[in-house]
Amino acid sequence: MSGRYGVIGNPIAHSRSPEIHRAFAHQFGRTIDFVRLLATAEDFDKVLSDFVKAGGKGLSVTMPFKQRAFQMSSSVSQRASQAAAVNTLIIDSEGMISGDNTDGPGLVTDILSNLGWQINGRNVLLIGAGGAARGILHAICQEAPESLVIANRTESKARSLAAQYKGDTKISTSTILQLLKPFDLIVNATGASLQGSALDIPDIVISSHTHCYDLAYAPNETSFNRWARTRGAIRTSDGLGMLVEQAAVAFNLWQGETPETRPVIDEIRQLMANG
Ligand code: NDP
Repeated sequence: MSGRYGVIGNPIAHSRSPEIHRAFAHQFGRTIDFVRLLATAEDFDKVLSDFVKAGGKGLSVTMPFKQRAFQMSSSVSQRASQAAAVNTLIIDSEGMISGDNTDGPGLVTDILSNLGWQINGRNVLLIGAGGAARGILHAICQEAPESLVIANRTESKARSLAAQYKGDTKISTSTILQLLKPFDLIVNATGASLQGSALDIPDIVISSHTHCYDLAYAPNETSFNRWARTRGAIRTSDGLGMLVEQAAVAFNLWQGETPETRPVIDEIRQLMANG
């Protein structure tokens, strides 16, 4: 597999992207040169242009550079444009950079295909209004939920996210504390699980048929999923499947091949368990 690939972010040492992409390449009898690139707000542009000059062909972009990558892209896909954020850069033979956002399809494929849950016709709660929420909002709405509530600690950010959406789904906003009814599907797109802090969510949002998806992933159950399970949620999942699925879409953009994701999800889960 010629050319160099990588993931750029800060922090970056914890990223599982190299293992994921190496496993994908292996499925096609290839090896991949895939590096972790640590950048700061000050040197992001230079790290990116050095990578392009060195023959870089593709980069995954993670926190906190998805908006910066959007600005640096000469052209962007429709889904990146809707999200105003880019998590995948594709670099052509002339060094031109185009941007895409694979977080939305990654989440929806994990929910529908891997987990076998439903979005269509369901009442959905999206908690959070940061970069990840922006990346997944349109993909969730494309599955035609019955309704969607965006709840965020800072409600003004939920309102501005909802205002950016131009589609048919009925969207309302709330603070987390003011949620008043149960939901069929709850997607946690806040950073609270990673900080180990509890979200102040009223228990009423959970009923005996509620499915809860935490975008965060960890070797052990995330704090949000533990909270949901102990309140009676019927199913919970962390975001490892989404991570692998969004990487599979990126791999396809770079290589034109569709890798199998199930064995890679299992492999990375095992790596995480081993520390
Ligand atoms: P951002 O920093 O852009 O947004 C953070 C969001 O979390 C904001 O809505 C913020 O609310 C909210 N928040 C943070 N801490 C708390 C808290 N203690 N209580 C309530 N709300 C809180 O982060 P991202 O959107 O980029 O990432 C969010 C999560 O999604 C992370 O855990 C990240 O790892 C995960 N993620 C997973 C992916 C995957 O492939 N599985 C892909 C992308 C992200 P406020 O606006 O009030 O500050």
